[in-house]
Amino acid sequence: MPRRRCRRFFSEFPAYPGIVEFTPEELEALRLSDIEGLTQIEAAERMGVSQPTFHRILKEARRKASIAVVGGASINVFGDISRVVVCRECGYSWKIPFSAELGAVSCPKCGKILNFEFRGRRRRRGRHWD
Ligand SMILES: [Zn+2]
Repeated sequence: MPRRRCRRFFSEFPAYPGIVEFTPEELEALRLSDIEGLTQIEAAERMGVSQPTFHRILKEARRKASIAVVGGASINVFGDISRVVVCRECGYSWKIPFSAELGAVSCPKCGKILNFEFRGRRRRRGRHWD
């Protein structure tokens, strides 16, 4: 039988009402580092910036993401950027505005309804928050 989990201590979570706005660079830094798992050197190269600059962009992006997740702030994105959607049925890809709802979208080519789901690594180890 595993050892009993030690007691953890939490502060009260402060609320950060308002909106945090991400720049496209910050979203790209989060994506390359935290979703694709690149090193800072690899990611900096892809973005065409130095590693220290990448680090500064990433640090600010993570701070904003934390404010949104922990503090409940809303998220907005600067500028006119879009996401690429790929149909799992026919492979057709098209762009949608970043701000578009990601609920269910139908493929303009084959009409298949695509439901978005989280496709990252899911690791569940034991219970949390106890
Ligand atoms: Zn399709």
